[in-house]
Amino acid sequence: MENVKGKVVAITGASSGIGEAIAKHLAAQGAKVVLGARRMDHLKEISESIHAHGGTAVYQELDVTDSSSVKSFVAFALEQFGQLDVFVNNAGVMPLSMMNQYKLEEWHRMVDVNIKGVLHGIAAALPVFEEKDNGQFVNITSVGDRWVGPTSTVYSATKFAVRAISDGLRQEVSRNIRVALVAPGATESELANTISDPELKKMAIEMFRKETIPADAIARAVAFAIAQPADVDVNELVVRPTAQKAF
Ligand code: NDP
Repeated sequence: MENVKGKVVAITGASSGIGEAIAKHLAAQGAKVVLGARRMDHLKEISESIHAHGGTAVYQELDVTDSSSVKSFVAFALEQFGQLDVFVNNAGVMPLSMMNQYKLEEWHRMVDVNIKGVLHGIAAALPVFEEKDNGQFVNITSVGDRWVGPTSTVYSATKFAVRAISDGLRQEVSRNIRVALVAPGATESELANTISDPELKKMAIEMFRKETIPADAIARAVAFAIAQPADVDVNELVVRPTAQKAF
């Protein structure tokens, strides 16, 4: 794909679901992908599968809640390939619950991974982009970045925040640095596993996740944003299952 081939793309949360699909899709288009997440066995397997299909991938353990880990992930990309062109802030968790369940640890985790993780990604990659006055962030939010309902209060708040951060960042950076936001609707992945309440998990799967699209649909949207010529900045793409109407 024009403008994807040869680019070095670092992806957080690449060990399953949407991150894995982005890595595989971009590698198949000729990008050199750098995979990060905590589950090294998954990263190894995904990287081997990319190699088996003729692609280029490397991986490093990453915890986005730790800013030094994200810095080291960017340094690893530079060390491996000598450049970084795109940083995909994808890692996220969604332990849905009602506010009066007081799941404070889960609220903190959502803030730490979904908001602070993205800020750590920006803090690590922006200096590299500014140095060469070129680069692109792709931030994966959710339709929950513009919609909130019972049980999604804190999760949606974190995604609203990332939408605000993306738009502010876009305006602050140089005219040559791009910021894209991709907001998925219900997509096949392991995300619902982060819901700790068994009843809620069942309800979420039955209600919110009754109709899902494959993670590759989101990967194609990410590739579309990257593939545009340098003077075209795709700012927002919302990608839902056709049948997902209510939220
Ligand atoms: P998955 O649960 O399949 O993937 C989440 C990824 O985030 C995993 O690779 C996980 O890796 C990683 N992750 C979690 N915590 C950390 C951490 N502390 N440091 C580094 N990586 C971490 O779900 P999805 O693929 O669905 O999620 C990807 C993104 O898409 C998220 O931001 C999510 O909010 C968003 N999204 C998904 C939707 C869906 O329906 N699937 C809908 C809307 C948005 P590991 O555990 O190995 O660290």
